[in-house]
Amino acid sequence: MTRFTVGGLVGQRLPIFINGTFRDSAGTHFAGFDPATGEEWCQVADSTAAEVDEAVAAARAAMQNPAWRDLSQSDRGLLLYRLADLVAANVENLARLETKDNGKILREMRALTQAVSVGLRYFAGMADKIEGTTIPVNKPDMLNFTVREPVGVIGAIVPWNSPLLLLNRCMAPALAMGNALVVKPSEHASAAILALAELVTEAGFPAGVFNVVTGRGASVGDAIVRHPGVNKIDFTGGTSTGRLIASAAGNALKPAMLELGGKSPHIVCEDADLDRAVNGVISGIFAAGGQTCVAGSRCFVHESIYDEVIDRLVARTAEVRIGAPDAEDTQLGPLALWSQVEKVQGFIEGARSEGARLVAGGGRPGGLGNGWYVEPTVFADVRNDMRLAREEIFGPVLGVLKFRDDDEMIRLANDTAYGLASGIWTNDINRALRFMRRIEAGMVWINTYRSPSVMSPSGGFKESGYGKHNGFAAVEEFSRIKTVVIDYSGKSQDAFVMRVAK
Ligand code: NAD
Repeated sequence: MTRFTVGGLVGQRLPIFINGTFRDSAGTHFAGFDPATGEEWCQVADSTAAEVDEAVAAARAAMQNPAWRDLSQSDRGLLLYRLADLVAANVENLARLETKDNGKILREMRALTQAVSVGLRYFAGMADKIEGTTIPVNKPDMLNFTVREPVGVIGAIVPWNSPLLLLNRCMAPALAMGNALVVKPSEHASAAILALAELVTEAGFPAGVFNVVTGRGASVGDAIVRHPGVNKIDFTGGTSTGRLIASAAGNALKPAMLELGGKSPHIVCEDADLDRAVNGVISGIFAAGGQTCVAGSRCFVHESIYDEVIDRLVARTAEVRIGAPDAEDTQLGPLALWSQVEKVQGFIEGARSEGARLVAGGGRPGGLGNGWYVEPTVFADVRNDMRLAREEIFGPVLGVLKFRDDDEMIRLANDTAYGLASGIWTNDINRALRFMRRIEAGMVWINTYRSPSVMSPSGGFKESGYGKHNGFAAVEEFSRIKTVVIDYSGKSQDAFVMRVAK
């Protein structure tokens, strides 16, 4: 029976996980909060520098351990299949741990945990299908080919909003390729990742392949990024943190993948199916309380349907059921952090003073105790130069803007520092495809929104980061290419002239 349940961890210190063993950290501990009540529910370790060193050493040793290094690709795949089964069998428990930590609704966390299992299976199947290439280099009697090998130790730094799903975007392809991981969960959501560590062991991965050091970004996260024993960083989080990490990694000449924030445009054209479009806009901003990197927070509506769409958005917003995240009928739970509540309130006040028109929400709902709730909020008459339209809010706040024609719509949609996701609702396929070609965003959703797949590459442009998770692109990120050249001519060559092709 696992101790990694909400009941088992209440009031407890969470351990760290190094070289296949859970233990109490020697570092200080800080409170982990339940956003639904605003109360402390567990204690999280701020791992020490020595513990980070140990975790990295364990991962490096695992990379040299024949039980991992020489494991066949198919057998690596089998381990991932086993882990997928274990995750699937533990969806309820893992989802409840995530909800306890980040306050996102249980129904969503169940779906995302199920998606972790699907993702593990996808990369399990890929483990023995990763190939090099043979290259005709215009040199007779020479064989030139490539092999793909693991990068080494991956430092995975994870945010709080969907810890398991976001970690798995790195973990599944990295393990399929034979890497080892040192994971730092968000200081606000560590419990589910520790529960996963237990399943990784049960699946049969050798000790040291997967390590978890909890703690704060500025201490533990930074130590991982700078550690000479870590070969690559996989970071998902805010753009300002991404900048710090990119600069530290760049200084160490260490590659980093950055999945950062967004201010994604969500377009409603006058020829759209308005029922579906309004539903999509509501889902794009209020699902997960707007705490998703792809939140469609800037909604551009054609001027001819602007008033009607505002009316429909207001009506739909009034219907959103706010409540405890573990209640089956709740649609909007609390925000994950009290600081987020304050930040979101600051944006709401700022938008009012900048002249945006508040048409729904704007306050905090009553009757929900001390939970960190904010009403779903809609502002009309937003301009693209307002703070509300420029900065990532990461809360349930939608800004609605007007456009006259497609050129203006594309210009405004692209007028942002970010480039993560985008969406358009139209029944004109030509218009949709023209939008797709011109929009500066890593993901384009047409007549749908927030519809990712593990099989399809995801990642941002501009200040939303670089690198691709999911799909075949991900195994490229977690592997490196080695080029091999064999001369089978049996002859000596001119010692003083490079053997370039003629
Ligand atoms: P955050 O940047 O505050 O923290 C993310 C992680 O980085 C945490 O584990 C934190 O401890 C760590 N960290 C902080 N400072 C660090 C440092 N100096 N060195 C190393 N690590 C450090 O982000 P958050 O508040 O946890 O998450 C919300 C942000 O994540 C939003 O901006 C959101 O858009 C973004 N996000 C992006 C994606 C994506 O796929 N693009 C997905 C989810 C979330």
